Amino acid sequence: MLVHEGLYIGGEWRTAADNPSIEVRSPSTEELIGSVPAATPGDVDAAVAAARRALRSAEWAGLDPERRAELITRFADELVADLSERAALTSKQNGMPISVALPAEGELPVGLLRYYAEMIRNQPVEECRPRLDGRGTTVVRREPVGVVAAIVPWNFPQTLTMFKLAPALAAGCTVVLKPSPETVLDAFELAAAADRAGLPPGVLNVVPGGADIGSYLVAHPGVDKVAFTGSTAAGRSIGEVCGRLLRPVTLELGGKSAAIVVDDADVAAMAQRLAGVSLLNNGQTCYISTRILAPRSRYDEVVDAVAGLADSLTVGEPLARTTQIGPMVSSRHRDRVESYIALGVSEGAKMVAGGDRPDIDRGWFVRPTVFAGVDAGSRIAREEIFGPVLVVLPYDELDEAVVLANDSDYGLGGTVWTSDVDKGIDLARRMETGSVGVNFYSLDPGAPFGGYKDSGLGRELGPEGLTAYQHLKSIYLPL
Ligand code: NAD
Repeated sequence: MLVHEGLYIGGEWRTAADNPSIEVRSPSTEELIGSVPAATPGDVDAAVAAARRALRSAEWAGLDPERRAELITRFADELVADLSERAALTSKQNGMPISVALPAEGELPVGLLRYYAEMIRNQPVEECRPRLDGRGTTVVRREPVGVVAAIVPWNFPQTLTMFKLAPALAAGCTVVLKPSPETVLDAFELAAAADRAGLPPGVLNVVPGGADIGSYLVAHPGVDKVAFTGSTAAGRSIGEVCGRLLRPVTLELGGKSAAIVVDDADVAAMAQRLAGVSLLNNGQTCYISTRILAPRSRYDEVVDAVAGLADSLTVGEPLARTTQIGPMVSSRHRDRVESYIALGVSEGAKMVAGGDRPDIDRGWFVRPTVFAGVDAGSRIAREEIFGPVLVVLPYDELDEAVVLANDSDYGLGGTVWTSDVDKGIDLARRMETGSVGVNFYSLDPGAPFGGYKDSGLGRELGPEGLTAYQHLKSIYLPL
């Protein structure tokens, strides 16, 4: 059991003995694995105040980018030291197979810190430009946007935290992090590593809590920017608040991405890759291709290949190296996924794989499930299920496949499967979505990531991900 009694605010672990606690349960054993104090509104006030003080402090604001980069690199070094334990902690909390957690939750947060540390080393704070009218010079200056409220979900808790924390720190911002109650324990490990690395007090603060504490933080007068990853419903309400306050906001939201299978695709090779592309993290991944669009001429072959893949995956204990599908994060979430499976049946789709629970006596498991004969207008074809449930839809002409792919409220990820890469790139260009993979899908931290339509606002990652944490100021100088 990991029991934390203090909250990391202003560079110290403040006792919070009278606060209510948040309990974390293992989704595979259903046992209690840890608890932390829940932050109160008063704790959020203290965290925001500490972040504001740090923003102006000599120890942080006074640092040149090289010194800031050194501190960020030390933070990365601290995270390397317990990489396997941190990855395992995510698996224990949300059921992510350890084979996914090691690279995605262990290594990637470290890589992101190093990437943005290097970027800030090489980016001049000020740049002189001759005026367009020739009457002097303008100094264009990059300044930190200020105190950042970072709110993250449970599915990739450490990495999605670092999507925000790494560029925010590199830009010179300070951060109040609100982790998800389901996976709150890893945020304490990140805070401890930041502390050991010598990040000045108040640069990172952690306020565990649910939606109530999240909305209190979003609207807090001491916050300058909100960076949110989570559901479209929550993102919409956060966007409304930020709109009213004219507060910059980045929203990374839900998805229902399409895989366009072209009639020249190597279907067997595609099926091999679908475990990572369409069912990653037990289907609890925002950008996965869960709507598979197959040419009618090869529809049955694609359905058989996808169903065969789903049936072949090893479902089990997330910490076992051989596990490919772990449990759903909570019993409530499993209920939700199962209700979509029942809905698919009632909507008349044909279940060709899964649909039930595996023969495991405890834990919130669902077998990977595939539906064929799905109507494009049905709810299982349109709504984000966020579990291991795939739908396969037929199309006749490639133009129709593009229309079907784009006929979605979302636009986050997507894939194209073809033996003709040029055709794949052409189709990718026509898809209304923030990212597309040709014959695979793998996030590139060096390139912007984000959504069209209901999948979000703004971009994270790449150099664009740093810009989101910087104000640009122009200083006009006469001749
Ligand atoms: P969620 O929206 O319920 O919660 C996400 C976080 O926001 C949690 O920390 C939660 O406590 C907090 N929160 C909820 N309502 C809030 C509010 N009104 N104000 C402030 N904070 C609030 O989402 P979830 O169930 O934890 O995560 C799953 C969702 O996240 C899925 O829709 C998934 O697609 C999405 N997601 C998107 C991305 C992306 O990059 N686009 C990545 C991962 C997950």
